[in-house]
Amino acid sequence: MCMILVPARSRVPTQDTPPTSPGFQIIMKRILIANRGEIACRVIRACRELGIESVAVYSRADKDSRHVHMADQAICIGEGSNADSYLNLANVLMACEISGAEAVHPGYGYFAERARFAEALNEIGAKFIGPTVEVINSMGDKALAKQAAIDAGCPVVPGSPAVVPTEEEALVEANRIGFPVLLKAVAGGGGRGIRRVDTPEEISKLWQTAQAEAQASFGSGEMLVEKCVVEPRHVEIQILADEHGNVIHLGERECSIQNLRHQKLVEEAPSAVLSEKVRKAMGDAAVSVAKSVGYSSAGTVEFLYDDKTEEFYFLEMNTRIQVEHPVTEAITGVDLVQQQILVACGEKLPWKQEDINLSGHAIEARVTAQNPAEDFAPSCGTITRWNPPGFGGVRVDTYVYAGMDVTPFYDPMIAKLIVTGTDRADAVKRLQIALHEFDVQGIKTNIPFLRTLCAHKDYVSGDVNTAFVPKFMMEYKVNGDS
Ligand code: ADP
Ligand code: ADP
Ligand code: MG
Repeated sequence: MCMILVPARSRVPTQDTPPTSPGFQIIMKRILIANRGEIACRVIRACRELGIESVAVYSRADKDSRHVHMADQAICIGEGSNADSYLNLANVLMACEISGAEAVHPGYGYFAERARFAEALNEIGAKFIGPTVEVINSMGDKALAKQAAIDAGCPVVPGSPAVVPTEEEALVEANRIGFPVLLKAVAGGGGRGIRRVDTPEEISKLWQTAQAEAQASFGSGEMLVEKCVVEPRHVEIQILADEHGNVIHLGERECSIQNLRHQKLVEEAPSAVLSEKVRKAMGDAAVSVAKSVGYSSAGTVEFLYDDKTEEFYFLEMNTRIQVEHPVTEAITGVDLVQQQILVACGEKLPWKQEDINLSGHAIEARVTAQNPAEDFAPSCGTITRWNPPGFGGVRVDTYVYAGMDVTPFYDPMIAKLIVTGTDRADAVKRLQIALHEFDVQGIKTNIPFLRTLCAHKDYVSGDVNTAFVPKFMMEYKVNGDS
């Protein structure tokens, strides 16, 4: 169905926006945010801080969402389902034309890593806030990305050198690599299209489910076979690059606390276990990969890390702002979204690598509208009470408020709780207090689950890896919330 675009009312007079900081010249007047939820709010705030007008797009189901009220203009782009609105390319492009926005920030998810979207914006003369079409194409394909990492001299997870076309060839590769292996969608993201295979007998069934999930989620069933690293940590490096060839990194984030579907739940910066030597080696490797592909904008190079051998392996590069970016902002003082916009304006990075200092410790917990008592089923309805914590070192990125409806159309993440402390122990304590104070009524959330998880002795001591949550879930099912 073709939607009628509803043009917006103009809300905030431009003279109300704060003056731009001295030292750079903003050449953009208006940015459209092709996203929803907390990340849309986050980008709108960055625009306002830079004195740039913001244009929100929204579905009818999102008409009361905070991002619609925060933006200077808001344009309705369709009905509730993603396919009819946020993933409707023609409607998003039309909103861009109607609003007169010179640039588009894609947030994460949706069109953020779709080269076709960046290309379409180029065609209508709008700037895509992110890397070039070529870079998105090469890094969006896990097989090409791995090859780029190998070419840049970066260690990668052992696996098939290219796409494995059939189930039979997957078995040959798995036998060559050695079980357990992972079947992984070449176009994958957000943990979808991944299956662990422990024995040759299992491969046929899991190949079919992984491939079907990949086809449904990404429109491509192409698969890789990779050695399954047992109980690794997930450690990733934040990159910032300008359009003049300057690339720096902003240290690491540890994201080993992942649910059973490889989706991140709790992230922190810095990692509890990285030595200065490994941090430098991993940071240098990430910068080399970014430089080798001509990267610009913010991006993340993800690694698996073995803290016993101190070895790390390239996993993938995400060519966008990441959900967990605030923990890096908290310990570096760098506003990553502002930097994305400034780089897209042609600005040079204002820092060299040696200017970046890490200070303190930050943790993010993803708050979702899911019911832990019912296997984390999505929970919809009206939020009747919304009392987030608010004290020193606490940031809550969200788009919901009391009285708002949570609808079934979108990702269940409704807020991110970010705490900062002087060191890890201080940050963990603040996280526990903040989760204790976080009071939401009307819908079910994962907050009780997060409270129990973040009080677990292994979480508190930092003795975790990607197998932590699967093990914790068994205790949780028996004991429930503490
Ligand atoms: P990774 O791909 O490394 O797990 P993130 O954790 O940053 O990276 O995000 C995972 C993906 O999940 C995003 O690219 C996006 O597709 C999806 N996603 C997660 N949370 C949301 C959300 N609140 N709204 C829309 N998409 C989301
Ligand atoms: P996505 O694009 O879905 O984020 P990734 O390649 O980043 O896919 O992998 C997601 C998660 O799956 C990782 O953070 C890690 O927990 C797990 N994983 C991926 N590859 C491997 C591997 N080879 N061995 C063990 N775990 C892996
Ligand atoms: Mg990933």
